[in-house]
Amino acid sequence: MHGTGTTPTTPHSVIVVGSGPTGLLLAGDLATAGVPVTVLEKRPHRTSNLTRAFAVHARTLEQLDARGLADELEAIGHPLERLRLFGGLGVDLGTLRSRFRHLLVIPQYEVEKALERRAVEAGADFRYETEVTGLTQDATGVTVEAEDRDGRPQTLRAAYAVGADGLR
Ligand SMILES: Cc1cc2nc3c(=O)[nH]c(=O)nc-3n(C[C@H](O)[C@H](O)[C@H](O)COP(=O)(O)OP(=O)(O)OC[C@H]3O[C@@H](n4cnc5c(N)ncnc54)[C@H](O)[C@@H]3O)c2cc1C
Repeated sequence: MHGTGTTPTTPHSVIVVGSGPTGLLLAGDLATAGVPVTVLEKRPHRTSNLTRAFAVHARTLEQLDARGLADELEAIGHPLERLRLFGGLGVDLGTLRSRFRHLLVIPQYEVEKALERRAVEAGADFRYETEVTGLTQDATGVTVEAEDRDGRPQTLRAAYAVGADGLR
């Protein structure tokens, strides 16, 4: 097998494709559990999904809280306890049975930054400007084909691959 930086195929090693919120959360959870994990992301580092989510709901905050990240995001976001939908329908989030009885207005890149820091601190290996172009599975794992920003091919090997590559 050719390629650079091949992930060792251990019985548990995982390649996560995509470093949006889904891939970042999973990478952090796996790394925290001691699973060797490599994240492949086609974007350059810190080129975020800038134009996307502007707020997170209570259940998302509960999930972030379970990973020790909610308080720092609460400190920089703006809580909204009441929403008005479709021009007239009022929603009172203050009645939610949650520690978080509000919608937290916070840009997605702040949530991603916190999730990425947690994953890195737990030992996840991030490779930016690496676009996955193919994947084959066999009896012992997966072979992932990727290209760096100059179009140079790479081959990586792991026990599992997880597609967290978004809607498309
Ligand atoms: C306009 C808009 C507004 C939104 N507002 C909200 C909101 O207010 N609150 C909320 O909770 N959600 C909101 N969402 C939804 C939220 O943005 C998505 O649910 C979230 O981004 C999904 O995360 P993800 O990690 O699954 O996918 P993505 O964020 O799409 O991440 C996928 C990642 O995979 C990478 N990738 C793709 N293909 C490859 C490849 N072949 N190789 C390597 N990397 C690859 C991409 O570059 C990307 O970084 C909004 C979405 C949009 C579009």
